[in-house]
Amino acid sequence: MMLRLTFLGTSAAAPTISRNLSALAVRRDRELFLVDCGEGTQRQMIRYGTGFDVDAIFFTHFHADHYLGAIGFLRTLSMLGREGPLDVYGPRPARRLLDVMLFTGTERFAFEVRIHEVAPGDAIRRDGCAMVAFETDHRTPSVGWALLEDERPGRFHPDRADALGVPKGPLFGTLQHGGDVTLADGRVVRSADVVEGPRRGRRVVVSGDTRPCRGTIEAARGADVLVHDSTFGDAEQARAEETMHSTAREAGRVATEAGAGRLVLTHLSTRYDREFAILAEEARAEFAGALEVAADGMTIEVPLP
Ligand SMILES: [Zn+2]
Ligand SMILES: [Zn+2]
Repeated sequence: MMLRLTFLGTSAAAPTISRNLSALAVRRDRELFLVDCGEGTQRQMIRYGTGFDVDAIFFTHFHADHYLGAIGFLRTLSMLGREGPLDVYGPRPARRLLDVMLFTGTERFAFEVRIHEVAPGDAIRRDGCAMVAFETDHRTPSVGWALLEDERPGRFHPDRADALGVPKGPLFGTLQHGGDVTLADGRVVRSADVVEGPRRGRRVVVSGDTRPCRGTIEAARGADVLVHDSTFGDAEQARAEETMHSTAREAGRVATEAGAGRLVLTHLSTRYDREFAILAEEARAEFAGALEVAADGMTIEVPLP
């Protein structure tokens, strides 16, 4: 089952020629999510072929570089005749701000936009996964988002069931779905005898803008992919603290503490637009796993464990 990340914008605060403002497309099976939607996101979606069939937008916070793109994008969807509802999630002041922003135009949307204000710890059920908001540490109310896939049932071994004398047919299905069965001769065959333990789902964690913090480390425990704020390099440590962002090195430390498998650095200050190799180097000193600096258009396929 597909789980693909497409980086639509990787620049902090202001766009450059090669980097747009924050947005990440997450395609999981039939659903498409956006995490943040900076100005110009809809054009990036066309450029990188994500499709416009977005089911939900998850905002990390409401600094302008993370949400202004939603106004134009939703207008375009309306013009294209979208009919299905669109869910929009975000921390305070999601309701007040999005209400004003989205519904004060003279045109009405052709579809329903449902605004949900969330707090850290809230888990939103989606098809086969949950999106969990976790606490982050920024200058304004903020959350990170963790996509947690449901466990998959363990592998079924029909040959073992066969060897235990289970007749082919509906009893196979019962065993496969966790039920024990009693055979004609009175013997009981347990599901656990023929089905392996459940397999863990994938875990993708997006920090949004934040200082390194406990919330991200907990959320990213054993994550397949951690996408982390990496606005600055070592040279701007003081600036990172003042503006409540992270350095690449700090992102590397968070990934190591969490035991994440793969770290992707994003939200780069414009001064690192092309000089991003230094960020990778500084993070590398702290984190030994797979590591890369995101670029607009970069995609990551997250394999099943
Ligand atoms: Zn930002
Ligand atoms: Zn911010």
